[in-house]
Amino acid sequence: MLRVLSIRAGGEVAKMARSLLDQSEKFRESRSEDAGTVMVPGKALPGAFVAAAMSAPAGLHDLHREIYDGENKAALPGKPVRSEGSPATGDAAVDAAYDNAKIVFDLYSDEFNRNSLDGKGLPLKATVHHRRDFNNAFWNGSQMVYGDGDGVIFRNFLELSVVAHEMSHGVVGFSGGLTYQGQSGALNESFADVFGALAVQRNIGQSAHEADWLIGKGILGPGINGAALRSMRAPGTAYSDGQLGQDPQPYHMDLFVNTSEDNGGVHINSGIPNHAFYLFSVLLGGNAWGAPGHIWYAALQSLNNPFASFADWAAETMEAATGLYGVRSLEFVFLRRAWKLVGISV
Ligand SMILES: [Zn+2]
Repeated sequence: MLRVLSIRAGGEVAKMARSLLDQSEKFRESRSEDAGTVMVPGKALPGAFVAAAMSAPAGLHDLHREIYDGENKAALPGKPVRSEGSPATGDAAVDAAYDNAKIVFDLYSDEFNRNSLDGKGLPLKATVHHRRDFNNAFWNGSQMVYGDGDGVIFRNFLELSVVAHEMSHGVVGFSGGLTYQGQSGALNESFADVFGALAVQRNIGQSAHEADWLIGKGILGPGINGAALRSMRAPGTAYSDGQLGQDPQPYHMDLFVNTSEDNGGVHINSGIPNHAFYLFSVLLGGNAWGAPGHIWYAALQSLNNPFASFADWAAETMEAATGLYGVRSLEFVFLRRAWKLVGISV
């Protein structure tokens, strides 16, 4: 079935939704240039030092959360309100930021032996109640920032997949970066969505078949007709609303959207690699944070091309699958099939 993807549908509101979480990438991209020289484990650091930094046993990694109240102002970080080990505050935003940061930290620590976002125990700082009615959340290169939403278009930005999405942009940046434009930018977006979904699924113990594969589930306002911001299972179906327009994501290269908006469609065409990850995960079965997550994570670590295209990334994941599981494995066969199903031959 061919469907029309009108990226102008919904006007300003749709544009706002598409640019959701954009700001983080602008910060992240500017920081990734710095990260490329001094903060990239496994790439820019001497091998022995990298091994020491990256090989701490799981469970011995340094979780250190610091939550701040922005008090509806723009200044960062704001007033410190909860630090590691201190009790719940009763402020739902503060406590959600605190709890979800640990869930994401644990995903990277327990499954990928990564010591925080930079691999070196970076403290997890987050500011909630940023500005007034702020319809966004972002990673600014050193901390998380969450608006409260305006209550009309968005309810909040502290849902786990959103928190994991933004923190994963930090991981991408510290791993060598993917330039936030065109296909490499859509890959950056997609990696963040993939690990957003993995954080949710692992947290509630859902297999690939059981999961809903939604990103930003429940964050849309009460009057918006939509289940989430994006769907990895069915890109293009997350919302359909008079104000917000139609979810513009394609699920196949035949529907790739050529546009100069949204940094060349980074939040749009990410639907294609998102769907490939989903297909691979359900073809393989089991938990998506197992082999599929490990292949994606390994590919990010070995990728040495900030301008990677979808085809480059697909090839990198095939190499990762080969290295981890071999060319005769189901992982290899199903991964190649998944890429083919979205129109990418590897
Ligand atoms: Zn993003």
